[in-house]
Amino acid sequence: MKFSRGPIIPAICALAILVAPFTGLLPDYWITLFNYIGISSLVAIGLVLLTGVGGMTSFGQAAFVGFGAYTTAVLTTRFGISPWLTLPASLIVTMAVAGLIGAITVRLSGHYLPLGTIAWGIAFFYLFGNLDWLGAHDGLAGIPPLRLGTHPLIDPRDYFVVVWIAVVMAVIATQNLLGGRIGRAIRALRRSTRAAEAFGVNTAAAKLMVFVYAAMLAGLAGWLYAHFQRSVSPGPFGITTGTEYLLMAVLGGAGRVYGAILGAAGITFLRDQLQNFLPWLIGNTGNYETIAFGAVLVLILQTASSGVWPILFGPPPPPAPPTPRGGKTTPERTLPAPGTALLQVQDARKVFGGLVAVNDVNFDVQSGRIIGLIGPNGAGKSTTFNLITGVLPLSSGQIQFEGHALRTQTPQRAAALGLGRTFQHVEIVADMSVIENVALGAHLLGRAGPLRAILRLDRAEEALLFANAKRQLDRVGLADVAFKPAGTLALGQLRLVEVARALCLHPVLLLLDEPAAGLRVGEKKALARLLREVRSEGLSVLLVEHDMDFVMSLADRLVVLDFGTRIAEGIPADIRQHPAVLEAYLGGVS
Ligand code: ADP
Ligand code: MG
Repeated sequence: MKFSRGPIIPAICALAILVAPFTGLLPDYWITLFNYIGISSLVAIGLVLLTGVGGMTSFGQAAFVGFGAYTTAVLTTRFGISPWLTLPASLIVTMAVAGLIGAITVRLSGHYLPLGTIAWGIAFFYLFGNLDWLGAHDGLAGIPPLRLGTHPLIDPRDYFVVVWIAVVMAVIATQNLLGGRIGRAIRALRRSTRAAEAFGVNTAAAKLMVFVYAAMLAGLAGWLYAHFQRSVSPGPFGITTGTEYLLMAVLGGAGRVYGAILGAAGITFLRDQLQNFLPWLIGNTGNYETIAFGAVLVLILQTASSGVWPILFGPPPPPAPPTPRGGKTTPERTLPAPGTALLQVQDARKVFGGLVAVNDVNFDVQSGRIIGLIGPNGAGKSTTFNLITGVLPLSSGQIQFEGHALRTQTPQRAAALGLGRTFQHVEIVADMSVIENVALGAHLLGRAGPLRAILRLDRAEEALLFANAKRQLDRVGLADVAFKPAGTLALGQLRLVEVARALCLHPVLLLLDEPAAGLRVGEKKALARLLREVRSEGLSVLLVEHDMDFVMSLADRLVVLDFGTRIAEGIPADIRQHPAVLEAYLGGVS
């Protein structure tokens, strides 16, 4: 999954589709079908973002189409408001409903989330069908057409232009959104929430934003639907249609924006053909196409789980991030003077059930120092990292960072304070390019929100963030793989990507959890050189490492943990001979 900004083949296909209706070759029937494909595409594009990219499966998207459609239906038929003026109203109503529903839904985890969407999908369907002022089951008829001046857009060819302008704009807006700072955060949601949070992404807000964006595209589709169909009734806004929309997104390729259009076309054609063909075959009328769709879904999931788009058009071209201008990058943080107290861990304790993972541990980190945190497997090193970085709450004790007590720490707050970290088990967004993964580290250095990204007003800022990411990649020696998908790198390289990402935050304290594990000898030497370099710049490093030569040669001081307890602290030369340490290592597991 990648989001290129200049795809040629899709552009040619799009052009062919857009020109076709005006060649006089296509009968009205087909144009009408194309219009419905366009309208469905809008919903499916939203779902690509929500489900394929954000990892939130929604069966209830048709309900938002309903909100868009009913809003304009009521305003135009009951209040005589001009259709163009109801567009903002349809979008605002959908946005408000999605904001409320989303605030509850996106917090659900695992299978509860799709189940939740089914629940409200059904609930809204019955709501539409039972409210008298919405015309109950009969719905509302007599919706006026859109007009250009005095010309009503009734001919499907006229409407075709409107629908497909909307689709093209939705594609561009969505691509722009995904390509930017918020887009990287969204793309990290499904693959690595932990990494996103560690670099300051408010994941709950990002999920809600995606949810509302997807709903607004559905609302737009509903508004277009109402003025094309000229009547609305609850039927198309239920869970069956909702499932079809989801199928469209999955069929095309759940991570691809263009795939949504392909999926919408595929499903719309298929339904159209099945409705003609199945009764003829089975000799009866009924909703057989629902069964056929079920079979199609199973088939796709079995044979082409990433959708049809990649099969037809191959892997996407590498994305083109903005080119850095004039060597400018994000401004560095001013670091405290070397030797000042930075981090104070005081009686830090973490209990998991009956297990004391971190047992009243004490140590300090001064600025401009490398502190090694060592100990056998299971000693509590990673847990200590998680306490410092706000991933886990302390059971008791205190952690202070530059005078701030971190008692109610969140990972986002830790990032904002300048704590940059890596993970023992790499947390990388595999289907995002290496440089974009690194740029995720600079999330808090940018300000651009979704609107600026959609309108591409984020270019100057993006150039700065990417200049920073590029610089950090140079430092870790990975500049030549910057545009490869991160998933294609070896484990050792991924660890270096994580180091670069942490440096991208312009941290005050770098927390590295076994950064040298899986690195080759040459890479280890380069990493050691880099850590010395960052120390000389005034950065502090808290280093968990199993390679004793590596950590002993680098660290100014070492803290040794065993079974959650600090058993020794001192300079490397002393620790090497410390009886308790020798005992722990010789008698220990590692
Ligand atoms: P280290 O990084 O030093 O190898 P950890 O901090 O990962 O050790 O683990 C310390 C102890 O805490 C281990 O016994 C581990 O099984 C346990 N532990 C770590 N995380 C959790 C958790 N989330 N729930 C329960 N036990 C945990
Ligand atoms: Mg560990």
